[in-house]
Amino acid sequence: MDPALERRYRARSLWLDQMPGTLTPRPSLTGDTVCDVAIVGAGFTGLWTAYYLKRHQPDARVVVLEREIAGFGPSGRNGGWASSRIAGSWSVYARRHGEDAVRRAERETFRAVDEIGRVVARERIDCGFRKDGTLTVAVTAPQAARTRAQLEAARRHGLGEDDLRPLEPGELERLVRVPGCRSSLFSPHCARVDPARLARGLADACERTGVVILEGTEAIEVGPRQVRCRQGVVTADHVVRATESYTTQLPGETLRYLPLYSLMIATEPLSEAVWSELGWQEEGLTIRDQRHLFFYAQRTADGRIAIGGRGAPYRLDRPIDEGREHDAAVYERLRATVRRHFPPAADAEVTHHWGGPLAVPRDWCMSVHYDPTTGFGWAGGYSGHGVVASSIAGRTMADLLLGRSTELVTLPWVGHRARRWEPEPLRYLASQAIVTVLASADRYEDRTDRAARRTALVAPFVQP
Ligand SMILES: Cc1cc2nc3c(=O)[nH]c(=O)nc-3n(C[C@H](O)[C@H](O)[C@H](O)COP(=O)(O)OP(=O)(O)OC[C@H]3O[C@@H](n4cnc5c(N)ncnc54)[C@H](O)[C@@H]3O)c2cc1C
Repeated sequence: MDPALERRYRARSLWLDQMPGTLTPRPSLTGDTVCDVAIVGAGFTGLWTAYYLKRHQPDARVVVLEREIAGFGPSGRNGGWASSRIAGSWSVYARRHGEDAVRRAERETFRAVDEIGRVVARERIDCGFRKDGTLTVAVTAPQAARTRAQLEAARRHGLGEDDLRPLEPGELERLVRVPGCRSSLFSPHCARVDPARLARGLADACERTGVVILEGTEAIEVGPRQVRCRQGVVTADHVVRATESYTTQLPGETLRYLPLYSLMIATEPLSEAVWSELGWQEEGLTIRDQRHLFFYAQRTADGRIAIGGRGAPYRLDRPIDEGREHDAAVYERLRATVRRHFPPAADAEVTHHWGGPLAVPRDWCMSVHYDPTTGFGWAGGYSGHGVVASSIAGRTMADLLLGRSTELVTLPWVGHRARRWEPEPLRYLASQAIVTVLASADRYEDRTDRAARRTALVAPFVQP
């Protein structure tokens, strides 16, 4: 293995850095080939699609083409929240498909957390899957108001106490001690994972079923029945594009998504004494807050706090760029969050800082597409909620390709179309505005304890 390439892959996240063994790419494509299904991208979407295809039809010839290595993209870098709730806007889906379809979709996200757990157990994927639920904390009056609004909306949408409920202060104390917490919500429908181990474990599981994964293989053109790579052409009855944010690098697809960077840091492993002071005893409990640029945190299997937040704009000339995966301002914001919300960990050394591009469609709603007349499908646009969403998308794509009439193929993201983003430099200005205005609104609310009205300035870009 080229040591520089190994370093580059490990530098993409805490999770990739900690992968046992080497990250040597699998063999690449070596010339023209023919198969039944060609999938571009070995992230969660591509791998779940391949996995379920082979479970339903073991003799299908499935080839996955990956530019780097399995789990190189956000699938191997994310916050490891296998969290429920729909990826997208309730009202957008409901407008087009009716409330009942969205309710069914929401319930499917609950079931999907357990389905991931079942596959992890069946395939013996050692990815620290642990389902202890998720906690949302509010530390200012405007954040508490958003908590109330979120709960009211959840009740209107049919979620009961078993799905989402406010915690009494005593109950909260038993889960974690967050200084100054004014209100909190708990949902049991969330698990913690090490996402790189999940993605790479899934790739191994796919191979065991006979899926061929070719790494170091860049698709230059992805279209019906054919994928053109540098090393050759792959001809297939079905082609699936599973490249989420990287789709914007393909010809004609630039404005499909806004690539919005989400960044993370991880502390060194904390001592048991610190964990006990934090009171964060449920290993799989994930925690977030109600800021506009909210944080999301997990306790890792080896006892670190891994915490992330959005807020790094992209570069106009290079929207997806490894240079954007470190950002001093976001790093400082995340450190400050650790100091404020988790004071016993305030002095812990930060050992890792990384990030990656989220794929945000113009209406923030995900899609799963398949056209049986051309055999071409694609899925993505999870707007930062892709761990569970991609597993649903993969299962759904397998059903669509095999013509199975399941409940999954009737969910509202199937065939959903969002309009494209405005041409540059407007999309770039929108991303700058989202990040700048929301960060400034958070600072204002922290300082004054009053709701910032300036968020209305970016409403046209964040509320479909
Ligand atoms: C920092 C961060 C934190 C996040 N946290 C969470 C979280 O906690 N929970 C959650 O639900 N979601 C989270 N997300 C979002 C989630 O990670 C993604 O939505 C999800 O991983 C997308 O999976 P995917 O397989 O569709 O795409 P990707 O993981 O991006 O995989 C696409 C693959 O395609 C490959 N590829 C790209 N172009 C080509 C090409 N031309 N030819 C061949 N291969 C190509 C890439 O190398 C990549 O491996 C986070 C994202 C980031 C960046």
